[in-house]
Amino acid sequence: MSQQPSSEKPISIVTGGAGFLGSHLTDLLLSRGHRVICLDNLITGNLANVAHLKDNPDYTFINHNVTEFIDIPGRVDYIWHFASPASPIDYLELPIQTLKVGALGTHKALGLARAKKARLILASTSECYGDPLVHPQPETYWGNVNPIGPRGVYDEAKRFAEAMTMAYHRYHGVETRIVRIFNTYGPRMRPKDGRVVPAFITSALKNEPITVFGDGKQTRSFCYVSDLIEGITRLMMSDFAEPVNIGNPREMTVLDFAVEIKRLCASDSKIVHKPLPVDDPKIRQPNITRARELLKWEPKVDLADGLNKTIEYFRGLITSGKL
Ligand code: NAD
Ligand code: UDP
Repeated sequence: MSQQPSSEKPISIVTGGAGFLGSHLTDLLLSRGHRVICLDNLITGNLANVAHLKDNPDYTFINHNVTEFIDIPGRVDYIWHFASPASPIDYLELPIQTLKVGALGTHKALGLARAKKARLILASTSECYGDPLVHPQPETYWGNVNPIGPRGVYDEAKRFAEAMTMAYHRYHGVETRIVRIFNTYGPRMRPKDGRVVPAFITSALKNEPITVFGDGKQTRSFCYVSDLIEGITRLMMSDFAEPVNIGNPREMTVLDFAVEIKRLCASDSKIVHKPLPVDDPKIRQPNITRARELLKWEPKVDLADGLNKTIEYFRGLITSGKL
């Protein structure tokens, strides 16, 4: 079978493409015949995530801060706007950059979409629901966010980004999509990004104490990265402009999650407790009825299978001396 000529391939821009999710998305797009241009300033990303693409003629990496004007010559078909610090530790350390990339970066990405007549998807978040008073969270819920709390820099930036995206859609007629991503995990998460999955797995593998914040009764619902990326590509190719939750509805307490990771790592770690961060949501579970009905999507990867793949990744970093 002959390959599609390069000039006829769809051209995708992935902002934040050197990060955890952006790099997995890039791999899937390349495997589906896209040319991919990554725009990333590496503020929380890592070139190692895309090192395997270095010699791929369909892949281009551009070191660029997307809060600044984005200048891309030629055709662009799809923009996947993923640039933003995403872990609570990152956005607490980078509050202004987080606000700027959510606001100014989204404005620049939408401006590019408008100029190129490209379709844009915004990587939004379950944090738009804040500490939710409705459970599980449907897309119709407006949320319970503290705008001036430490997490407000991320939550409000994403809420602004959603508002800006809908304004470009309604006022300028840009084709837009919004995905509200719930906690996602997998290989290529930064070992020290402070999120619960890398924190628990690296502690468990080193037999160091696993630190549970608060009493650990707060809940989260964890989605494996391949499930998430499949859902996001289906949403991009759909004709639905309003937000869609993508995540795994299997909910568990953070304490039970620590016990499960300890078991899968065959670890002797003790479980210790530290104070709960300010405004840490007490419950979180996506209502995925919309994704099921519109996209015929639902997660397939079992928690233990996904965690085992992720554990192997972190074990590899430890045995190769990278951690
Ligand atoms: P990540 O930190 O691994 O990736 C984010 C990438 O964006 C990094 O490579 C970083 O360098 C880049 N970036 C940040 N600011 C930039 C800027 N101004 N210009 C250019 N590049 C910039 O995080 P991730 O987990 O891959 O998250 C990706 C996106 O998905 C984010 O928008 C995040 O808000 C969203 N999201 C992720 C999750 C999750 O569970 N992983 C959940 C909800 C939403
Ligand atoms: N958490 C924890 N120990 C850690 C890191 C996180 O107990 O070392 C808890 C955190 O307080 C939250 C949950 O795990 O209740 C998920 O945290 P994460 O930072 O992964 O993302 P969030 O869902 O809060 O955005």
